[in-house]
Amino acid sequence: MVFNCRQCGSCCMALGDYIVIERQTGNFTFDCECVSTGTAFTAEVDEDKRRIFVDHSFPDAHPSACRFLRPDGDLLRCTIHRDSPAQCKFYRCVVMRISDRSGKPAGTVRGTLDLHSDDPDLRHIWDNEITRKRPKSDAEAEPWIAAFLAEKGYRVQ
Ligand code: SF4
Ligand code: SF4
Repeated sequence: MVFNCRQCGSCCMALGDYIVIERQTGNFTFDCECVSTGTAFTAEVDEDKRRIFVDHSFPDAHPSACRFLRPDGDLLRCTIHRDSPAQCKFYRCVVMRISDRSGKPAGTVRGTLDLHSDDPDLRHIWDNEITRKRPKSDAEAEPWIAAFLAEKGYRVQ
């Protein structure tokens, strides 16, 4: 299945110490380092995201977030999508880890809000209840799904 990032920004909120701007080299160009791999890279803010990049209120209010993350309506977007490091491009998230009543891992939910699970009971609930009843908006669906599963006796982290 193709992974479609829904641009919720969760995975970038704690990466401020890992994606580091070393120096600004132009209006929208930067020398950077991906600290976890020690890899230097240059980044130019995507042309279509410069409008949101110039507003620094979000990174000012969220010092742990990656310096290139910006709100755009309901989304939190990477403003260097073209030049972001390989770790970011290939990242596949998990937004929920689901355990059964005994604490045994039962499945995970990715940022696309699709379930990965071999648990037949959880799969049944997901396919027959959650996919039919969940709110259409992903932002509303995520807490709704967590609460729904909790009501069914699952633990969601
Ligand atoms: S470079 Fe982009 S994808 Fe990578 S952590 Fe920063 S905002 Fe997220
Ligand atoms: S947590 Fe997942 S869906 Fe959200 S921005 Fe990161 S990769 Fe995309």
